[in-house]
Amino acid sequence: MEESYICNLCPRSCNVDRMAGKIGYCGQAYEVVASRAALHMWEEPCISGERGSGTVFFSGCPLRCVYCQNHSIALGKVGKTISVEELTQIYLRLEKKGANNINLVTPTHFVEPIIRSLREARTKGLNIPVVYNTGTYENVETIKRLEGHVQVYLPDLKYFDSDIAGRYSKAPDYFKVATAAISEMVRQRGKAVFAGATTDTSHVVRDMNDVIGAGGRNASTSVSGCIGEGHVEEGIMLSGVIVRHLLLPGGLEDSKKVIKYLYETYGDEIYISIMNQYTPMKDNLRMYPELNRTVTEAEYDELVDYAIELGVENGFIQEGETAKESFIPEFNMEGI
Ligand code: SF4
Repeated sequence: MEESYICNLCPRSCNVDRMAGKIGYCGQAYEVVASRAALHMWEEPCISGERGSGTVFFSGCPLRCVYCQNHSIALGKVGKTISVEELTQIYLRLEKKGANNINLVTPTHFVEPIIRSLREARTKGLNIPVVYNTGTYENVETIKRLEGHVQVYLPDLKYFDSDIAGRYSKAPDYFKVATAAISEMVRQRGKAVFAGATTDTSHVVRDMNDVIGAGGRNASTSVSGCIGEGHVEEGIMLSGVIVRHLLLPGGLEDSKKVIKYLYETYGDEIYISIMNQYTPMKDNLRMYPELNRTVTEAEYDELVDYAIELGVENGFIQEGETAKESFIPEFNMEGI
């Protein structure tokens, strides 16, 4: 293995030698640090299903939004250093527990060792899809390197406006960067494929999430030859792109621009997941008083109605009380 790794993996372009222990904006050196690996039931229905999604939460983050729901790990306060071999074994254990996929949460800054671990895991028999779950402050080159390793992309598109992206994530170029990365994800994975796609998959809809247009999932292409077919539950996404957008308090107009952009650019080629689960993490928000509340039902309904009026059919919405700290997983090293 090389002895240095000068990191310019993401648009922060820190240019530091992470293998020598230097730390860039993401707060992590080269070796993988993770804080939880467990079955997670509260992703979109076609990601979690009934058996759960095999989530691996990585520590550190190149984006570090001021309102982050997972701030203890994003800031790297919690986590355990693991080797590539240990990461490989974590995937295999999650598969054995019945996970419908391996869901890599905030993986950007560990892409190098992650690719090695996935290669290793496939040779050892891993046979479920890999989900790349990212805040999408990503270089296109990084996404290109994931081709063939990732089956489902689950990127956020957080902001349209550069002032908002600057204020909350210190990334005024976020929209330009994230949309270029999403474009590459769609190029790789295009139209969605679901396990058992020729049958009705509506039974996987859960209480917390509802599907705007369930019919779209049955219009997907053939599943033959897809990783995971026959190993995951019916209705689980085997290949495709779901773009998530979290509505922020007072952010309705920006959110509408995000949804409009996605629908006008990709139509029903992608799925759009519109989330209302924003939970104020009070300790972090002294400088951002406007974020110190949950979003109202009226704000969220207006955004969902807007999406429906635009014509969005392939989408997910959230229902019920989702804005609670109790829905944020405990980062207690479970499964690490
Ligand atoms: S991955 Fe981390 S060190 Fe590398 S460029 Fe991005 S923020 Fe900087």
